[in-house]
Amino acid sequence: MMQIFMPLNFLGFVYREMKGSMANIEKMFSLLRQAPKITDAKDAKPITVTKGEIKFNRVSFHYKSNRPILKNISLTIKPGQKVAFVGSSGAGKSTLMKLLYRFYDPTEGTIEIDGAPIDQVTQQSLRQHIGIVPQDTVLFNSTIGDNIRYGNVKATEQDIQNAIQHAYLQDFIDQLPDGVDTLVGERGLKLSGGEKQRVAIARTILKKPPILLFDEATSSLDSHSEQYILKAINEVSKNHTSVMIAHRLSTIVDADVIFVLHQGEIVEQGNHQQLLDKDEHYANLWLVQQKQRQHSKIPDKA
Ligand code: ADP
Ligand code: MG
Repeated sequence: MMQIFMPLNFLGFVYREMKGSMANIEKMFSLLRQAPKITDAKDAKPITVTKGEIKFNRVSFHYKSNRPILKNISLTIKPGQKVAFVGSSGAGKSTLMKLLYRFYDPTEGTIEIDGAPIDQVTQQSLRQHIGIVPQDTVLFNSTIGDNIRYGNVKATEQDIQNAIQHAYLQDFIDQLPDGVDTLVGERGLKLSGGEKQRVAIARTILKKPPILLFDEATSSLDSHSEQYILKAINEVSKNHTSVMIAHRLSTIVDADVIFVLHQGEIVEQGNHQQLLDKDEHYANLWLVQQKQRQHSKIPDKA
């Protein structure tokens, strides 16, 4: 179903959902029920992000007290770096991103952006500075243009055109009967996973946040669509701090730093070559995936 990341403008989302059918209203309530209770600190101020440095200081987290999910994670992501988190399913990668977006608070430790503990700033300002391309993008029952504009309601037509181009959506939109005015969503045209992800990327380009998070943005795609998404991601993450969660290691070989997460701990970090030379966790994962590639033409899924 849905990723549980709440969009920046959740109320706008709720409003659009309410314009829809009863079924959508039910969906909205089920979403609200899922939302955990994170509130702003009493004296919370808006965050200012100038560099885009991210720091985890001894962060631990559990959903249920008897089951630790993240264990004592300390790491620094430097301004403008492109980093990746890899590791087997259930290792805690998405949880780490959810903590950064402050969808949950760590059980122990702190997370800082440009030196500001994120639980001391307003959630709204935090989420304004972070763009997320989730695994499963939700489209509203509206036009494809509106779905893109949602990234920044003040964007001009020129900005939207630019976002469409940089998200490699132009050819796709040109083929649609009504172009950007084509209705999409549950009662309109159904888009493929890759097309929806490119809409999410176009939204993010409009939003221009200093920090970008991509959660398995290419894991459900064939290699042709994957190339498009990777190009779009490279485009949007130029000069920005970006964090990618990747199942397929081939998509993150050029990351500045790759963190290997295993059962809630960072067990290795370094660039692709350094980790191959180390010949441990990452090198094993790489070898396994290389073999899978040779034995099958079907793209592996997360
Ligand atoms: P990854 O993204 O690396 O596959 P996740 O961060 O999604 O891993 O999940 C890590 C662990 O936390 C998994 O065992 C998962 O089942 C558990 N988990 C994830 N979300 C929740 C939740 N909302 N409530 C309880 N457990 C959860
Ligand atoms: Mg995940």
